[in-house]
Amino acid sequence: MRVVRTIPDVRALPRDGTVGLVPTMGAFHDGHLALFRAARDENDLVVASLFLNPAQFGADEDLEKYPRDEERDARLAEEAGVDILFAPPAEELYPPGFQTWVEVEELGRRLEGEYRPGHFRGVATICLKLFNIVRPDRAYFGQKDAQQVAVVTQMVRDLDHEIQIRVVPTVRDADGLALSSRNAYLSPEERELALQLPRALATKDPEQARARLNGLDVDYVAVADFEPRVLVGAVRVGKTRLIDNVVLDSKESS
Ligand code: AMP
Repeated sequence: MRVVRTIPDVRALPRDGTVGLVPTMGAFHDGHLALFRAARDENDLVVASLFLNPAQFGADEDLEKYPRDEERDARLAEEAGVDILFAPPAEELYPPGFQTWVEVEELGRRLEGEYRPGHFRGVATICLKLFNIVRPDRAYFGQKDAQQVAVVTQMVRDLDHEIQIRVVPTVRDADGLALSSRNAYLSPEERELALQLPRALATKDPEQARARLNGLDVDYVAVADFEPRVLVGAVRVGKTRLIDNVVLDSKESS
């Protein structure tokens, strides 16, 4: 596996056959590895980006304390079949004078967008930039972030990009908690509380889910008309904010 830091070096990569891109922010867990493996199965060249995108974090969010360990991430990515790890410094993607943003208006404002204003503008912009830099045939995203999938899919449609968006089911720990880099912030007691989120969503019923989350700090629980339809939820456990969803209208539990 090669680690590449600049846009010209990505553009200079030899391209023979199909290219799969997995955008990430690092702190890899089995959810990321499932995306790498899916990309490996379907493409000749697998590119993973490792970029902690400041534009998708609010001023009072966890950008500073977000877990970072590039050496470990590089090892895990290589083992999962990644060929190229694109890990640029922030100035490579946001040079001085940067001023163009992608806004997916209605979809980007609800649910997560309401609680994290500007988040999906940051997500859509970085994804479009990565699509333009890497020019992949397919890009891989986790169902865990269902609204992110909806926003990116809408952007690709609206801006006539040719890329194919592939979605990988949510990977969970044995106890049902969806894997997330942010789970590392949870104390054992907080983790017990956090488990109420997947348990509540597993009812696949918003009223029942809300009742089960009684006592937790709930941002929202709602049915979202994405493709597929999902029951989504976001809660705060201590200082940690967790999101999760279950697919409705399907026998799948992810
Ligand atoms: P992140 O590094 O958090 O930006 O995540 C990178 C990609 O991994 C996104 O497409 C996420 O949706 C996906 N992802 C994160 N957690 C999981 C999970 N538990 N299962 C499947 N995909 C995930």
